[in-house]
Amino acid sequence: MSEIADWKQKYHASLREIEADEKRWREVEQILRRLIGRLCAAGMGVDPQLDDELTALAAANRRNADAQELERLAQSLTTAVVAVDATSPVLHLTAQFPAPAPSDAKASRWKSTCAALAALLEDLKEGETDETALLGLLAELAAAETDSALAAVVMRTADLIQVRSESLARERLQAAAVLSEVTKRLEEMAGYLTESTSANRNRFDDTLSLNDTVLSHVRDLTDEVSGATELSLLQSVVSARLEQVAKQVSDFRAREAVRMVEYNGRADHMRERIADLEREAVELHSKLDMEKHGARLDPLTGVANRKSFDERFSQAIQRRALSDAPLVMLLWDIDSFKVINDSYGHRAGDRVLQSVARCFTTSLRTSDFVARIGGEEFAILLSGLKLPEAVAVANQVRTAVERLKFHFRGTPVRVTISCGITELHPEDAAETAFDRADAALYRAKNSGKNLCIAA
Ligand code: GH3
Ligand code: MG
Ligand code: MG
Repeated sequence: MSEIADWKQKYHASLREIEADEKRWREVEQILRRLIGRLCAAGMGVDPQLDDELTALAAANRRNADAQELERLAQSLTTAVVAVDATSPVLHLTAQFPAPAPSDAKASRWKSTCAALAALLEDLKEGETDETALLGLLAELAAAETDSALAAVVMRTADLIQVRSESLARERLQAAAVLSEVTKRLEEMAGYLTESTSANRNRFDDTLSLNDTVLSHVRDLTDEVSGATELSLLQSVVSARLEQVAKQVSDFRAREAVRMVEYNGRADHMRERIADLEREAVELHSKLDMEKHGARLDPLTGVANRKSFDERFSQAIQRRALSDAPLVMLLWDIDSFKVINDSYGHRAGDRVLQSVARCFTTSLRTSDFVARIGGEEFAILLSGLKLPEAVAVANQVRTAVERLKFHFRGTPVRVTISCGITELHPEDAAETAFDRADAALYRAKNSGKNLCIAA
């Protein structure tokens, strides 16, 4: 019973946690909706075609339209922005132009939009959102002076929210699946308890009836003994009665033995079921932990993993259609890594991977994205840098790794890395950009390694 109560408590606590998460995200959604409203108001008056789109988006937002409708309106707004962008050399919406408006009204709209976005980012800190990314965004927001810089912060905020809400949805599904399993098991346990109660009642009834039968035999025997006149008759009466009593008792013991076997069988079954449940709960907890922290990170180096990189990269590619803020991808590969493994062992190789990853994260800005995408391969996304600046940054990182001091078995070992660099083009698909960086990396390897080459 106490195990059941314990499980019930644990799963009610999980439910309460999910509800609290949902409440927090409803609040975030409200702030986002307010923000959409303000951004729509801020964008009005630039172009009549955009005004229509913005009015429709603001109206849908006010009546709490669902994600599908908002997505459709956002797409349509994007198309309109691109069209206006293409036809108007003056109103280059996606280009960098000083946004704080000439008029007081526009300046105050700008200020309140920034304040709302800052409040939203602060709110996100409450949840399990990537804190480094959040702090980076807050810093970028504080430094933003143009519409396109602000738009970039808004879009990256939306990405963070999307990632969090997807993981929340997955957590919900998993928790719901386990809850339904737990409910099934609890029903099974309740059934077992009902059966045990009724078995106990039967046993009690059986004992009572044995008692009654024995008593009635004793009473009959007493009457027969007092009426008996002959010793031989008396003997046969007593022995017949005793035989009947002995049979009743032995039947009772046989029934009792069957009951015992059944009871033990059911108890063993229940013990197994409880052990199963415990195992499943432990697995679920570790799965949820993985989901929250591990599934997006490479366990060896602590930087983002391949899955996380692929998601981030495809979001970046989509954003290129909206904004011309530059984005550069660096593809790295440790030079002659196999030699390190072969000479000093796999553990030494792992230490190199960890140190190189640390060197990447400490050399770059928090807003840059570092991922381990394969054995000894890393990818980095640098936002806001044009190609020549990115090449300079890559060379600084390359030199920092070259200067790391490794000692294996008392021997100093020099580790170097090579890099392929490419700037994302607006028409790029993820594969084309990746292939360009890969080809540049290949050239760096063929040109002597410890090099950064741009494509
Ligand atoms: P190159 O300079 O051309 O890149 O040569 P390389 O030796 O670095 O490249 P190669 O592809 O021949 O070898 C990569 C090695 O990386 C082989 C593989 O065993 C090792 N490796 C992959 N993942 C890990 C890991 O997680 N830990 C360790 N220690 N080694 C790994
Ligand atoms: Mg490699
Ligand atoms: Mg290599």
